[in-house]
Amino acid sequence: MDYKPRQNKLVVSIGEHRLNALLVTHLPNIRYLCGFTGSCGALLIWPGASVFFTDGRYSSQASGEVRGAKIVVRRAPLLQSAAEWIAKNGSKLGLGKPGGLKLGIEAEHLSIAATKRFAGMLPVGCKIRPTSMPVEHIRAVKDKDEVERLRAAVLLGSSLFDVVAKAIQAGTRETQVAAELEYAARLAGVEGMSFPSIIASGKRSALPHGVASSAEIPSRGFVVCDFGVILTGYCSDMTRTVHVGCPTAEARRVYEAVLEAQLAAIATVRDGVSVAEVDSAARKLLQKRGLGTYFTHSTGHGVGLEIHESPRIAANQTEILRAGMVITVEPGVYLPGKFGVRIEDMVVVTESGCEVLTPTPKELLTL
Ligand code: ZN
Ligand code: ZN
Repeated sequence: MDYKPRQNKLVVSIGEHRLNALLVTHLPNIRYLCGFTGSCGALLIWPGASVFFTDGRYSSQASGEVRGAKIVVRRAPLLQSAAEWIAKNGSKLGLGKPGGLKLGIEAEHLSIAATKRFAGMLPVGCKIRPTSMPVEHIRAVKDKDEVERLRAAVLLGSSLFDVVAKAIQAGTRETQVAAELEYAARLAGVEGMSFPSIIASGKRSALPHGVASSAEIPSRGFVVCDFGVILTGYCSDMTRTVHVGCPTAEARRVYEAVLEAQLAAIATVRDGVSVAEVDSAARKLLQKRGLGTYFTHSTGHGVGLEIHESPRIAANQTEILRAGMVITVEPGVYLPGKFGVRIEDMVVVTESGCEVLTPTPKELLTL
């Protein structure tokens, strides 16, 4: 893996933010920029070079994984290591020059307490500047390697839907269905689940985040199944809602409306379209069916190294979709105390539209 193109994009962004350097502390961002998958690291990057800091536990892992950055192994805590390194080598970054060294930090990921501590350790002339997710902004558009990894994760995730459908039976606990799913996922070689699996049956299906509970699946009603797997670092995310027993006319009507809304939203996805437009396509359809007030969350989100990434596909967002973004499209309707339905696919944005990655059929499956 060549990390230079990713680092080069960030260096351009560092210039645009009028910074001399950026200290990256969010682990998925570090992984994206230099390949390190461990749990203790910081990456200092500036035009010209980058330095990766870790401690002794990760020295051999770092030399095996980190590319495109010099590795510095220190016993001290990460921020202290970085501050000491800057005190010694800061002239490379602009320390001592007029204007001093403007050092960006990832404000969304460094606590106020850590930032204060760090500021106290930095040499005179080095000033901290908060930034708002410059790496995440770059990560929103996936490169070829990432799309292939996401595709593989989605295919594996989708293949597990059969396990879920087989496990769903009246009287079975939701956690048992989740256990069957997660066991099969592990056997298939996944690194983990993208998030705690949602298996929400009967009235619980009306909870948009009904994580599998000890509730028994009733003899008649919907079961919302929302799950994903992590494969080579990348997350999948899908939802299918199945019905146990014969659905009522109302249940069928709601299911069809959610499916229509999902297809309408997918039909709008294209390079250059605003995320609000995609959200509005799903929302308008559900409003037309009298169900608008029961669609209580946003239409989707970016997905990649993390399960929830930029962009958010929501009404109040101004972001524009760009080719290479990988997002979910997942409208839902939740009738409190009755039932809920959600259908979710992952799609890649292209110049002319999008490619739906999730191959699992979406017609109402009754079990
Ligand atoms: Zn999901
Ligand atoms: Zn999702």
